[in-house]
Amino acid sequence: MSSKVDYLTCDTCSKKFRPGEVELTCPDCGPDLGTLTVHYDYESVANVLTRDVLDSRQDQSHWRYLEILPVDSRPDALHPRVGWTPLYDLPKLASEVGVGRLWIKDDGLNPSASFKDRASSVGVAHAMEQGRKVITAASTGNAASSLSLFAACAGIRAVIFVPETAPEAKVAQLLMFGADVLAVRGTYDQAFDLCLDTALSQKWYCRNTAVNPYLGEGKKTAALEICEQLRWDVPEAVFVSVGDGCIIGGLWKGFCDAEKLGWIDRKPRIYGVQASGSAPLVHAFDRGDRTVTPEPAETVADSICVGKPRDHIKALRAVRESGGAMIAVDDEQILDAMRTLARKGGVFAEPAGATGFAGLVQAASASMLGKDERVVCLVTGNGLKDVATAISAVDTGPVGIGADLNSVDNWLREQGSKGA
Ligand SMILES: *Cc1c(COP(=O)(O)O)cnc(C)c1O
Ligand SMILES: [Zn+2]
Repeated sequence: MSSKVDYLTCDTCSKKFRPGEVELTCPDCGPDLGTLTVHYDYESVANVLTRDVLDSRQDQSHWRYLEILPVDSRPDALHPRVGWTPLYDLPKLASEVGVGRLWIKDDGLNPSASFKDRASSVGVAHAMEQGRKVITAASTGNAASSLSLFAACAGIRAVIFVPETAPEAKVAQLLMFGADVLAVRGTYDQAFDLCLDTALSQKWYCRNTAVNPYLGEGKKTAALEICEQLRWDVPEAVFVSVGDGCIIGGLWKGFCDAEKLGWIDRKPRIYGVQASGSAPLVHAFDRGDRTVTPEPAETVADSICVGKPRDHIKALRAVRESGGAMIAVDDEQILDAMRTLARKGGVFAEPAGATGFAGLVQAASASMLGKDERVVCLVTGNGLKDVATAISAVDTGPVGIGADLNSVDNWLREQGSKGA
């Protein structure tokens, strides 16, 4: 077990645990309410991992934050580069949206093409340190394809539970990386419960979001990168899409850790964006509850089609403590955001990847943000993950023509007559 983790606390009863004392969640509060938060000896880390040390660090991946991750070292076997994704400064798009400054952080550029690589790499490194032989996960698709990639690198068997409706590209990745794929005839929420039960009965390492406290530690690195890439001058607001709530909880943890280490002296407001057909966290936020009530879920954004968000406590805490909000956007707004991000931001996002931006557009037009505020919006997954939805989101198909110049001339004339 990593010597760096000082202790863990239960998100509900605050009970303290030593690293390794419990496998996943607080035994008193259970997997739903007893998710754990990881704590380090911040004073010691602050002495070794300063802004100056980071400035001189060559490692262009999220392992540059190793001192504040729950593993002893970066295993050599996990060579694919995770994190340190680009933060694009987009002044034209900022003024169209109506904010002072806008950066898009493209996490679709991770090795398996989603944000999930931040968590999977840390989870697999942790499993390797424990000498585990089998890792399992339930996933809407991306967590699984990401886990399969790193499990393959580590030479560990991966057993994956996905809903049978998972998009083909994600299933293709799973199979290509050599995972055992169980396509559950049921929802993601059902696949999750089945996977958790199997992990406990088979004693497999469980990469399921929320119940494994170390995954959020991988996800927090995006916040650390935002701080560093903006030269420690943090934005006023950060927008991100939300399904289970692990990414948003991890982001907030990252900004809190950065503050504890003395890297930053204030933190951004965090806005979580859900699809209106799958918005239990938005409803809990509006009701003032600290936990969710599960709801049926349906949205084009499959990665955030979650009726029972597992990291609900951390997610709601992130938006409340930061002074942000949980907001909902409908599927049309998500498809519109995909087109805008592609055509004006140069970023091809899958539906859930564009949902944070859809939320930003809505929040800005509802004057939830100041006109001169600086905003970071995360793109969490690549558009090639779900080509069918991308095709359905564009207004025109390709124009079939003959393989000769005349055909092109005819097409151009038609265009002219349409006044294009
Ligand atoms: C998993 C995922 C999300 C949501 O993350 P949660 O931790 O479940 O809230 C958003 N976008 C993409 C592309 C994802 O794969
Ligand atoms: Zn507890």
